[in-house]
Amino acid sequence: MNGHFAAVDNGNGSSPDSNAHNFEHGIQVINEDKQYNTNLNEYLNETHVAEAGFNYHLISVFGSQSTGKSTLLNHLFGTQFSVMSERERRQTTKGIWMSKNKNEGKMADNILVMDVEGTDGRERGEDQDFERKSALFALATSEVLIVNIWEHQVGLYQGANMGLLKTVFEVNMQLFLKDKQNQTRSLLFFVIRDHIGVTPLANLRNTLIQDLTHIWSSISKPAGLENSKIEDYFDFAFAALPHKILQPDKFISEVENLGSRFIAGHRNKDSDATDDQELTGGVFLPEYHRRIPADGLSIYAEGIWDQIVSNKDLDLPTQQELLAQFRCDEIAREVQIAFDAAIAPLEEQQAESTRAGKPAVLPDLGQIGAEAREKCVKNFETQASRYHKGVYTTKRAELEDKIDNRLKALYQAHLTAAHKAGVTAFSDAVTNAVKAGQKAGGAYEFAEIVEKQKTKTLEIFKKEAQSLAIPGVAWSNFKPQYLIFEKELDEVSARLRKEEMRRLAIRVERWVKSRLGDAIGLEFNKLGSGRGGSGAPESGEKPATEKDIWDRVWKAFISIVGEAEGRFTDRAKSFEASDDEVQVGLWRLRRKSWVALREKIEEEVMESNILMKLRENFEDKFRYDEDGVPRIWRPSDDIEGIYTRARESTLGLVPLLSRFRLTSTSAPPDLIEFVGPQPHGVEPGDEEDLTPIGGVDEDEGKSLEEETTILSEPKKQDLVVRFKKMADGVYVEAKRSAIGGITQ
Ligand code: GDP
Ligand code: MG
Repeated sequence: MNGHFAAVDNGNGSSPDSNAHNFEHGIQVINEDKQYNTNLNEYLNETHVAEAGFNYHLISVFGSQSTGKSTLLNHLFGTQFSVMSERERRQTTKGIWMSKNKNEGKMADNILVMDVEGTDGRERGEDQDFERKSALFALATSEVLIVNIWEHQVGLYQGANMGLLKTVFEVNMQLFLKDKQNQTRSLLFFVIRDHIGVTPLANLRNTLIQDLTHIWSSISKPAGLENSKIEDYFDFAFAALPHKILQPDKFISEVENLGSRFIAGHRNKDSDATDDQELTGGVFLPEYHRRIPADGLSIYAEGIWDQIVSNKDLDLPTQQELLAQFRCDEIAREVQIAFDAAIAPLEEQQAESTRAGKPAVLPDLGQIGAEAREKCVKNFETQASRYHKGVYTTKRAELEDKIDNRLKALYQAHLTAAHKAGVTAFSDAVTNAVKAGQKAGGAYEFAEIVEKQKTKTLEIFKKEAQSLAIPGVAWSNFKPQYLIFEKELDEVSARLRKEEMRRLAIRVERWVKSRLGDAIGLEFNKLGSGRGGSGAPESGEKPATEKDIWDRVWKAFISIVGEAEGRFTDRAKSFEASDDEVQVGLWRLRRKSWVALREKIEEEVMESNILMKLRENFEDKFRYDEDGVPRIWRPSDDIEGIYTRARESTLGLVPLLSRFRLTSTSAPPDLIEFVGPQPHGVEPGDEEDLTPIGGVDEDEGKSLEEETTILSEPKKQDLVVRFKKMADGVYVEAKRSAIGGITQ
């Protein structure tokens, strides 16, 4: 007979063919060796009970051996539990079988029936242990316990059935010892077999209730539950069936009637009666349900059976919590598979692009992430919320934490990439716009360019950050990152403005140099005219003299620098440079301008240049008379006298030129006042390209005197010697021409 039951394995469900079981006869949940069959879950999956949540029912049948239990179940529920052969009359396999109702339609959905193979009341001993264990198992899991009993056994208080009931009551007390708050009740459904009909069912019922009350009072009750009543734990229902062999047709129709009672029912209002006269509808009252979700039933039953087999006190609340932990973990793993499938490729892509050194901005990340998250959490909620509330809440938080940490990492890296890309784009855009403006003739507004690009770049980042927001999820608000980004753009703007200031400074410095080149060159050229300045003084101006050359140089310089300062300030203000920045720029400009002036002067006094100017100056005085008419030397002319005066006059320029002195003070110009004190906001690096100025930069070891010395003493002497040689040559030539009468 065992051969039919291919569903039996050693209990671990790991045999290679474990997913090819034949469940034709249901499944042996507990075998004769008291081993639990983990394939139950597979059976529940195959029969689609596993997906039913709480929409299933569990019924167990009790009764002595060979009282027609399996026969009854097979007729009622279309199951194929093994039935003792009429001829052999030997005990069928022990254990507990389960099968799903195959007669669905008029009955409730997903009825699971457990056929508890009873012991023969005549042979006690070892079997009593199994009987007790199966009773406990059935009670812990089933809503309805069918007690199968012959009519002639009713009232036989000492009979085997009563012994079984005593056991059921005792183990029930044991269950509630640990679970006093539990409001779960069970229905004891007495099915009286071979009912002849002489004694009405109502009488049989009364007899049974009397007996039950009697048994209840006889069992020893644990401390705290001494006064409990049988009605505190059980409801009762009764049915009678005719003799199957003698009245087969009536048996069939009565079984059909009985089957119609396996539907949902409720207790009549205001009634505390416990028998089926007070129940309306069917036998399945909500309060009977053990509230174990169908997809956790196998694990739960396994835990219960483990406890029972190892003779531990059954603690249902703990078992339910353990189940919740186990199942919630399992469900969390399952729902994360889809999440992983959506998110892992993005994580990989991001990691790869980061490794390659160019972090990627992933398209549609926010949408993909939010959808994956919602699906994951929703799926978890649907399945796991049926389990122990506290455990579910904790596990849900854990799950959210886990997936949120992954999303967070992904989103943050994403925004970091967007941040980097944004800063680069902004900097490039501003630089390019400036370049284009310069190409187009320099008519561009730096501040406008910055503002426009900043708005544009911020908008892009904002969109990116907002696309990541998940409604109701605090961490997905990336406003802080947006503010950090905006701050960085401002820093980049400041840097770019500084660069723009530098470019402006260079332009203005170039302009100053060019103007100085013209203006100072002009002043030095005037030296070539021996009569002190240009022969034709400009109208209204005092004729320039050689003596005030430095006054004129300084005046021209101050005027050029003043104009340059104005240009610089106007332009810098136009791109919103700060006052400090403008002051630093002006300070630098004045210093650079002075250095440029010195360079220009040095160029003018370079040996060949200055010697030529002195020669022109001398020749002008020597070869031309006071009216500017060229002299024609005659032997009678005082050539020597004219020569000496002209030479001395020109030589007088050398000490004048060698030191930058203003006539008004006979002192060098006040460079300290001109340059001004170093303004606030000079940053390291601002001074790096500045040439030290003697007398201004104190620690330079060079005095203002030295700074304004144009020709050193040796240079001066060298110049005098060379000039004299040159003048001598001119004198000799003049003398010769006078004697020789050679006209010039
Ligand atoms: P179980 O051990 O309680 O599951 O009993 P079985 O269903 O295996 O049946 C035991 C024997 O009782 C079989 O030979 C059946 O034919 C017989 N039987 C089944 N139903 C009835 C019934 O309603 N009345 C009588 N008298 N015998 C029945
Ligand atoms: Mg049987």
